[in-house]
Amino acid sequence: MSLTAFTMITIANYIGGVWTPPRSGRYFDDINPATGEVMARVPDSDAADVEAAVSAARAAWPAWRSMKPAQRYEALHALAEGIRRRLDELAALESDDNGKPLWLARSVDIPRAVSNFSFYAAAALHFGSESYEMGDEVLSYVLRRPLGVVGAISPWNLPLYLFTWKIAPALAAGNCVVAKPSEVTPLTAFELSRIAQEVGFPAGVLNIVHGRGASAGEAVVMHPHTRAVSFTGGTRTGRRIAELAARQFKKVSLELGGKNPNIIFADAPYDEALRTTVRSSFANQGQICLCGSRILVEASIYERFRDDLVERARALKVGDPRDPDTRVGAVVSESHMQKILSYIALAREEGGRILTGGERVAVPGRCKDGFFVAPTVIEGLAPTCRVNQEEIFGPVVTLIPFADEEEALSIANGVEYGLSATVWTQDLRRAHRMARDLEAGIVWINTWLLRDLRTPFGGTKASGMGREGGWEAMLFFTEPKAVTIQL
Ligand code: NDP
Repeated sequence: MSLTAFTMITIANYIGGVWTPPRSGRYFDDINPATGEVMARVPDSDAADVEAAVSAARAAWPAWRSMKPAQRYEALHALAEGIRRRLDELAALESDDNGKPLWLARSVDIPRAVSNFSFYAAAALHFGSESYEMGDEVLSYVLRRPLGVVGAISPWNLPLYLFTWKIAPALAAGNCVVAKPSEVTPLTAFELSRIAQEVGFPAGVLNIVHGRGASAGEAVVMHPHTRAVSFTGGTRTGRRIAELAARQFKKVSLELGGKNPNIIFADAPYDEALRTTVRSSFANQGQICLCGSRILVEASIYERFRDDLVERARALKVGDPRDPDTRVGAVVSESHMQKILSYIALAREEGGRILTGGERVAVPGRCKDGFFVAPTVIEGLAPTCRVNQEEIFGPVVTLIPFADEEEALSIANGVEYGLSATVWTQDLRRAHRMARDLEAGIVWINTWLLRDLRTPFGGTKASGMGREGGWEAMLFFTEPKAVTIQL
């Protein structure tokens, strides 16, 4: 029977191929943010559950590690196909769990989870390592062996999308995984464990432990047999994980927060820049680490762009995530909504003018108790104020005028974060200069969120350490060993 057929789901951990209740017997509630209703009971797992998962993973590792690439390809490809077959069901779960519009989950989140597995299934086939000759006498080559058991910890904003973005390369490189999804969006991770069982994915190779960050998450980081941890989430959590991992000399990949600039020059392709800026501001309720939250506009077109952006933002329908006309769904939780509203209040205190939005939205009907925030555009704030420096992670953007390229760059780089940046200009040379000088791991020119999965993904400064994507993830999840032979 499918998960959506139940009104209340009791989630189980997936350990050694078996659904396992938490050892403590404790659960907490999973809430649908669009309705405020409890949808599921989530295992409140702790170190004992993580211990069981690591031990199942260790037992499964020798067979998984020594599989031929083609066999590993088949296993990962089967997961991709299993997700594809359940697209509608998974999209509905993701939308209910996270508050995002159903059409978005169906067109972006779940298809991307399919791509993550199919992309890294292919990587398992093609991955190789280098060799070097020193004249005719010496040959050196590099072995790239999997690490063993690795941890994957992911956030709530793109639940299955980011969960599988870590799991897929870890498995492709020959590791066994203990993965912890966000406590607020566990449903599609649970469904993934059902798919793994359905397609006969080898038991113990992928283990999923549900629970809270401070208990289950930290136990994954602290376990002496997790050889690496791939983490996506907030900068504060990332710092804590980096500290814990450093003491153990454990490899970490940290994909953290952002305060991304969206820089619009006067020669930008105007309509496209405007349309895409609306999307990069409010897609997924502004809860994408790559959303552009600071919109820098060249002074000569500032007023026109501001007025057009405000008009477009006002026209976005905030409402029931199941309604196909909804453009902005619910934010992920009541506490997150309060955090977003507190930043809007701070913007007022800091002298900002709220041009549109700025408040909670009441949605009638089944969503009357949901957590909805109106798309909000603010102007008049100094680039250095808290609202322009700290990550809000909601449907809130600020507008900042700039005089020239130099000033745009200085404002763009004047934050502690460095995840992504978007530049709108028709001037080829300027585009290259900006791409070179922006302090960001990802730069888009005249586009946004267009991803080639072969390119490195990640941030600099307080936005993280290490890169995911393409070969970078395969390198992260393997240990190089140099072998030199005197011939
Ligand atoms: P959090 O940092 O709160 O949580 C992320 C994950 O870490 C969750 O699974 C969480 O569990 C877990 N966790 C929390 N504390 C610990 C701990 N001490 N040890 C181990 N694990 C822990 O982030 P959010 O879920 O709130 O996600 C939003 C953040 O993620 C934003 O800052 C956003 O910018 C960032 N992000 C970054 C991306 C990137 O690629 N750079 C992409 C997407 C989001 P629990 O859910 O139980 O708290």
